[in-house]
Amino acid sequence: MAFSNKTIVVTGASSGLGEHFARTLAADGAQVVLTARRRSKLEGISDEIIAAGGKALSVEMDVTDASSVEEGFAAIDGRIDVVINNAGISGGGPALRTPPEEFGSVVDTNLKGVFHVARQAALRMQDEGGAIVNIASILGLRVAGGVAAYTASKAAVVQLSKALALEWARYGIRVNALCPGYIETSLNADFFATEAGQNLIRRIPQRRLGQLSDLDAPLRLLCSDEAAYMTGSVIAVDGGHLVSSL
Ligand code: NDP
Repeated sequence: MAFSNKTIVVTGASSGLGEHFARTLAADGAQVVLTARRRSKLEGISDEIIAAGGKALSVEMDVTDASSVEEGFAAIDGRIDVVINNAGISGGGPALRTPPEEFGSVVDTNLKGVFHVARQAALRMQDEGGAIVNIASILGLRVAGGVAAYTASKAAVVQLSKALALEWARYGIRVNALCPGYIETSLNADFFATEAGQNLIRRIPQRRLGQLSDLDAPLRLLCSDEAAYMTGSVIAVDGGHLVSSL
């Protein structure tokens, strides 16, 4: 299988995209390390992966807390081949109604969290190399109303990915950013059923939301040794949303 003998750490693996990534990569043969704050959710998912014949481990980690990230990585034995920096929060509302502490918590999670995790990953990978995949968003490349903190944090993740790719190429560490468009999950399904949600879908050139499975092939590519010459890349998976007509 594609990722046999690879250890892949996924942050934010207790729900949504991260849970899907962990299940997909475990089915591809990887030993997956699921991390997030909600240990019981992680353990439930790990148990299901193991029951299906996969290899999984749960490690509690709060990405906003550099010590928690360091302790989490210390609890993972052996070589780490790939880290998927997926944990993130939306946060939002119009900028004038965004309290400073909410702006701060979006940046703490989505930007500083990505840095803390990437740094611990690179410390582990610097002798033998590895791959880091940062989950940004199309909102890191274009803006929308009511999500100033989020869009700023994701733009910073795109730029951070390029900066780390530049610094860590000498260690054989590849750093790339994956920018999903709007992906249907249990958390946003209600919104997309509303008229506002349907209007949004009509502005996507492919006229549909992304499904979790739409991310599988690009994610596998960025994790794989077959992408050995890709670093500092930014890949959008969005049904053409970024090229919608102005
Ligand atoms: P979910 O809310 O379903 O999942 C977010 C995950 O992040 C959870 O596992 C949560 O776990 C974890 N998390 C949040 N805060 C922290 C923290 N401080 N420390 C550790 N883990 C944390 O969101 P999605 O699956 O939709 O989003 C996942 C990523 O994909 C995010 O970065 C998001 O910005 C990005 N994205 C999503 C899109 C979408 O359409 N869904 C589109 C583009 C990008 P716990 O609460 O247990 O800690």
